[in-house]
Amino acid sequence: MPTSVGHSLLGYIWYLVFKKNRRLIKNWKTILFYLFIANAPDLDLIPGIFIGHANRFHHGITHTLGFSIFVALILCLVPKFRKKKNFIIFFLLYFTHVIADFLCADTTSPFGVMLFWPFTKKYFISFYTIFLDIHKTTLRSLFDLHNFKAIIIEVLIFLPIIVVLKLKLFLKKQGREKEDIS
Ligand SMILES: [Zn+2]
Repeated sequence: MPTSVGHSLLGYIWYLVFKKNRRLIKNWKTILFYLFIANAPDLDLIPGIFIGHANRFHHGITHTLGFSIFVALILCLVPKFRKKKNFIIFFLLYFTHVIADFLCADTTSPFGVMLFWPFTKKYFISFYTIFLDIHKTTLRSLFDLHNFKAIIIEVLIFLPIIVVLKLKLFLKKQGREKEDIS
């Protein structure tokens, strides 16, 4: 799995892509909400941490196509989110986490994610891995050089996309302001 930094950057990318959507709560609250959903599949690490084996319940059904649809549907039950567009946003936020994990190195069996569950219980992992796995055996190992390298790779991949999207939004705003003046 990529680190929470990588998943959060990906969540922020979706925030910028859908920034026009004013139906959701605004600004930093929306950003935090997006980042939470983008990281939510990894909540499956918590029960394992309690028994001293973080990976014990990791990469189960929480990292699947079926569960991504389920989460998006559940969130859309909240009256203010009941829009088709919000379903798409929630689904993309959640499922692209699963895709990112599919594109990540994995050194513990079962390798990868049950990408297409409930259609198949088969685990899938990309032939070409983009992201590094995380060392998470002890709390101290979370801060080792390998994990630092993993974060750097994630930033190098996602930051250029964020810069382009920010620039696009900036130019759009400038264009709108010019239109207002003329
Ligand atoms: Zn994950």
